[in-house]
Amino acid sequence: MAKKQFKAESKRLLEMMINSIYTHKEIFLRELISNASDAIDKMYYKALSDDKLVFNKEDYFIKITADKTNRTLTITDTGIGMTKEELDNNLGTIAKSGSLAFKSENEVKDDHTIIGQFGVGFYSAFMVADEVTVVTRAYGSEEAYEWRSKGADGYTIEPAAKDTVGTEITLKIKENTEDEQYDEYLEEYRLRSIVKKYSDFIRYPIKMDMKRSKLKEGTENEYEDTVEEETVNSMVPIWRKNKNELTQEDYENFYNEKRYGFDKPLKHMHISVDGSVVYRAILFIPKNTPFDYYTKEYEKGLELYSNGVLIMEKCSDLLPDYFGFVKGMVDSEDLSLNISRELLQHDKQLKLIAKNLKNKIKSQLASLLKDEREKYEEFYKAFGRTLKFGVYSDYGMNKDDLQDLLMFTSSKEKKWITLDEYVANMPEDQKYIYYATGESAERIEKLPQTELVLDKGYEILYFTDDIDEFAIKMLMKYKDKEFKNVSSGDLGIEPEAKDEADAEENKELFEAMKSILGDKVKQVRASKRLKSHPVCLTTEGELTIEMEKVLRAMPGSEDVKAEKVLEINVGHDVFQSLKDAHGKDQEKLSLYTKLLYNQALLIEGLPIQDPVEFTNDICKVMV
Ligand code: ADP
Ligand code: MG
Repeated sequence: MAKKQFKAESKRLLEMMINSIYTHKEIFLRELISNASDAIDKMYYKALSDDKLVFNKEDYFIKITADKTNRTLTITDTGIGMTKEELDNNLGTIAKSGSLAFKSENEVKDDHTIIGQFGVGFYSAFMVADEVTVVTRAYGSEEAYEWRSKGADGYTIEPAAKDTVGTEITLKIKENTEDEQYDEYLEEYRLRSIVKKYSDFIRYPIKMDMKRSKLKEGTENEYEDTVEEETVNSMVPIWRKNKNELTQEDYENFYNEKRYGFDKPLKHMHISVDGSVVYRAILFIPKNTPFDYYTKEYEKGLELYSNGVLIMEKCSDLLPDYFGFVKGMVDSEDLSLNISRELLQHDKQLKLIAKNLKNKIKSQLASLLKDEREKYEEFYKAFGRTLKFGVYSDYGMNKDDLQDLLMFTSSKEKKWITLDEYVANMPEDQKYIYYATGESAERIEKLPQTELVLDKGYEILYFTDDIDEFAIKMLMKYKDKEFKNVSSGDLGIEPEAKDEADAEENKELFEAMKSILGDKVKQVRASKRLKSHPVCLTTEGELTIEMEKVLRAMPGSEDVKAEKVLEINVGHDVFQSLKDAHGKDQEKLSLYTKLLYNQALLIEGLPIQDPVEFTNDICKVMV
């Protein structure tokens, strides 16, 4: 029989697709299994309207056989088969899908499961095979046909013999090359793991003959190889099951089987949506922070299934970065199996699903916060930082979504509070939400700057994470209350009158001190916030000392400088010493000023420029 050419454009398309559409060669098996499953589905469909045909579940299966000697891999199914015309049409024209046609001819409703629709999957066989042979007999036909092709240069169709209805596809597996070990597609264990990975939830049994070494009967240490037919796939995916059929343990097992994490999940979500987009998902919030979570190496993403068939292991488009800790999977009938990565990104359905998931995760976290506070705090310790990054990044675009999920410790009690709780606890006369920054709660508690605010009876939020202040600057306000760093210039609660007069009176002294310190500080002035401490540093303008520390640690930002103000407690005894030295002993004034400045730096956790000079200065005071 004469060799037929693939129809027109098909030839180039075939070459392209063999080489580029799929990133992993192993998916050829997924494609062939999906086609086999489709073919069985079609029998099921026929049976619905054909009285002569009874669909006995046991009769329908897919079988995979590897033959190392002949380097062949065979995928057999008991599906609907193909007539000669169908062979010619469906396998002779690339990008022509018999399955898509079947769906419209038979008015298959969307709720069913036929996977194929693009008409390219079959050709992925040529990624691993030199030659592909398809022997098939259509339902209702006595004749069988053999389609054979070595790839782009064409195919032949000839009559063949086949006893049963269905299709048998044989791949002549390529020889190994330097870069590619094709041999692995003849190894039972490798094949089995590919089936498990991509096709575990195909609804018909996928059988394989697995070799097992078994103890020979009647002996104690003699083994013999036996071959047993096994069903490799588990068929019913957990996400298709009903929530109330499943236990906590089922979800935990799934989490571990899937290797989403080695811990136990903190919380799972089983989602089933039948709206403008149809999908099912099982999502997990892990208990522990993955070791690489806050590094560039961490890849967020969910497994993506199209109708029970895995199409992507880590679909990052499904999760915003700030929910990057979420693990799990999504299965949708609205996504196409053959879709490539680039196409997927623009997929409207996918975007809808992503948006939907985002809202679900958000409300799950909100209800965890409301109903299971302890669990939420555990979650927040592991992943709270991500949420704060989420507030800060993308120019604050997501702050409304995230602000109510934030928590901080505070001066009132040693526990986490939300912004909402803070505001609810505010006395009526309190105008701002006060916060203080520092390495730890213990250090912040000792900051002299907190004195005045605490004296007023106001609560102070403790910002111990370097991202905290940046995130809060992005929020600007919460429930119409502005945030205020206790070290900032104007706290809005300073007492007036008397101190103001003091400042005027000592103006000359402060100017003298400022000129001793030069451009290290912008100003030296009488403090309105200090009660018991002699000195502290505060800042003027947007940039605070904590932000300066963070920014300076980044390359290229070493020159960033907060505008610092040295505040002196005029009610403190040291102030008298300063006054005494002023105008009488310039050297003493300079010594005291530098000492006080360095002390203020230490309190802030900032480095002292010249520690040796500092210790010498202390000695001078002592002798
Ligand atoms: P798709 O599955 O997207 O339609 P494929 O290239 O995978 O595209 O397959 C092309 C067509 O060949 C299918 O639509 C189907 O009509 C037919 N076909 C492929 N494999 C089989 C099979 N095992 N049994 C019956 N028909 C098949
Ligand atoms: Mg297909």
